[in-house]
Amino acid sequence: MKSLKSIVTASSLTSLMLVATILIGTTSIIYYVHQTLGEIEEALPITLSRQERDVGVLISDVSELIHAVHLAQIKPGRNDIDSVRRGVEKIEKHLEKIRESYSFNDLIGASAIHAVINPAIFDVGNWINHGIYDFPPDSPQTLQLVEQRAADANREARALYEDTADTALRILSLQSYRMGMFRKVTIATLAVLSTVSAVLVFFIIWQQHTFHALRQSEEQIRFRANFDPVTMLANRPNFIEHLNEAVVQSRRTGTLTALLFIDLDRFKNINDSLGHDLGDKLLEQVGRRISDCVRSTDMVARLGGDEFTVLLPYLPDEMRASLIAREILEHLSRPFLLQGHEVYTSASIGITLCPGDGKVASTLLKNADMAMYRAKETGRNTFRFFTARMTARASQFLELDKDLRSALKQSQFFMEYQPIYDLGQNAIAGVEALLRWRHPQKGLIMPDAFIPVAEETGLIVDMGLWVLKRACEEAMDWRQGGRETRPYLAVNISMRQFKGGFGQDQMAAILEETGFPADCLVLEITESLLIEEDEKIYQALGSLRDMGIRLAVDDFGTGYSALNYLRHFPINLLKIDRSFIRDMVEDEGDARLVETIISMARGMGLVMVAEGVETAQQRELLRELKCKMVQGYLYSRPVSPAKIGALLTREISNRLPALHSATMSA
Ligand code: C2E
Ligand code: CA
Ligand code: CA
Repeated sequence: MKSLKSIVTASSLTSLMLVATILIGTTSIIYYVHQTLGEIEEALPITLSRQERDVGVLISDVSELIHAVHLAQIKPGRNDIDSVRRGVEKIEKHLEKIRESYSFNDLIGASAIHAVINPAIFDVGNWINHGIYDFPPDSPQTLQLVEQRAADANREARALYEDTADTALRILSLQSYRMGMFRKVTIATLAVLSTVSAVLVFFIIWQQHTFHALRQSEEQIRFRANFDPVTMLANRPNFIEHLNEAVVQSRRTGTLTALLFIDLDRFKNINDSLGHDLGDKLLEQVGRRISDCVRSTDMVARLGGDEFTVLLPYLPDEMRASLIAREILEHLSRPFLLQGHEVYTSASIGITLCPGDGKVASTLLKNADMAMYRAKETGRNTFRFFTARMTARASQFLELDKDLRSALKQSQFFMEYQPIYDLGQNAIAGVEALLRWRHPQKGLIMPDAFIPVAEETGLIVDMGLWVLKRACEEAMDWRQGGRETRPYLAVNISMRQFKGGFGQDQMAAILEETGFPADCLVLEITESLLIEEDEKIYQALGSLRDMGIRLAVDDFGTGYSALNYLRHFPINLLKIDRSFIRDMVEDEGDARLVETIISMARGMGLVMVAEGVETAQQRELLRELKCKMVQGYLYSRPVSPAKIGALLTREISNRLPALHSATMSA
């Protein structure tokens, strides 16, 4: 990037200099031509007038000569002949000077003067020195001829003089016309030349621009192909490429390479509550913090969503990898500041080592992912190294899925029921249906061990329908009896069931088939269902409420726990999670939290149910806090339908005060 930028600035600098040079060059050439032409024009008349003057002098010389000849004719004598001779010499000298000072190119030229005047003066000089045809030089005949020859020269000189002036004028105007033309042509040529060069320079600049833009978009495409635009970290393909190289290197040199798989805990909650823009900002900061924890030779990448990876080649030992993982966790647990919001997050990290755990990139990625899930399961905000046992777990998952499918067909499932008590009335207000699996080889399996698998594979959709129908059927039996108010039936519904199409139609069919009254049914759903912004789920919940069915939020407090979210949903009950009840006796903070939740729930017209009540202390504290209902081992463990029936009958025989239908109202 840097070198490209310098190339671009250098090339635009060169083009700028080129433009400047051309402009300066063109201007100075025009100036020079203009100046020279001006000088020539000024010099021309001077030359012409000099020639005129010279011819003029010649004429007066010749006139003087003629005068001298006349004197000699009147009074022939030695002195007068000498003065004629001097006149001739003077003219000859003058002619000589003209020949020397005029060049061939001069306008009139020495040759013209010589051709006309020279022969006449030559004859005059010869005759005066030697005489002619036996006449001595000073004889009247000779003088007569000399006079005639001198008059010839004079006439010729005058004609030449007139000619000179004429020609000079003609040549001057011709010359100035030519000069004008020459100047125009020169300027036009220069103008064309400079235009052409300017166009050329602009073309070069334009080309450079296009080239630059091309380079930039090329660069951008390359960047997009290799980097994640949100965090500016390497993307998946880029990372895989580096991972492959590192694996090859590691195997060849026997050095240790670690792969860290980092997944943010509950990122979805943050994304949903703060919006995607802030979610992206968080990811960006997370990427930066992870990068801060590694060496410059290590590679940090974002695979997508809230998943990050770190490649640590050339490690001295695996301790180093765990130290880096711990540092990353520590960095990520500090608060993030997102547009004034202080946001907390944590991460779970899976670590795998090369060449020990795997020899190809795909295996290593799978291992690290598995180890990350393990870290999540063991309580988040922690890291786990991949172990061979994890692969065994993965195959267990597949086996479990296979077993579950046949379990449904072979009726290995059954229901247990746990009563929910009204604290004030001290009577059973409802009963929660809980699924059990009797595995032919492994014995009784509790739902926590198989529900997550069924949710992941989608089997929960069919399984959930079976549960609903079975629970309604069985409840018809144990609800018989002499009670005035019959306890409600609570059934757990997984979020995955709604996505699988569970709703009004299936519910209505089950109610009709079993004859169970809709207004005695409570569906328990988890918070995550409400946070998910899914129109389909909203509608399904709405139509169930319209049927008279009530809804309870299960495990409240473990997820996002924003009470105002609940306002938008047709919720009737709130089941506060077992973990709060467990700690509330010892933990002042938890007790206060429970109190706050209870008072807020009451304000919103929701009925509070406390789960996992195991001790009398907890019960009393809940009573003080004015919790409406309780459920837990203190009252009863989940039991068979027959036992639930017996519990209800015993309640009647104990002649407890009659319960009224207000049980359900807050
Ligand atoms: P949950 O809905 O929170 O159900 C209450 C769980 O707490 C039950 O465990 C119950 O046995 C346990 N529990 C009740 N009182 C106490 C107590 O005082 N102390 C302690 N330590 N535990 C108590 P279970 O039956 O093992 O069910 C576990 C979870 O499996 C349920 O949690 C529920 O989320 C899920 N589940 C059970 N049956 C179904 C079902 O039919 N459909 C779906 N979707 N989920 C089910
Ligand atoms: Ca439940
Ligand atoms: Ca619960």
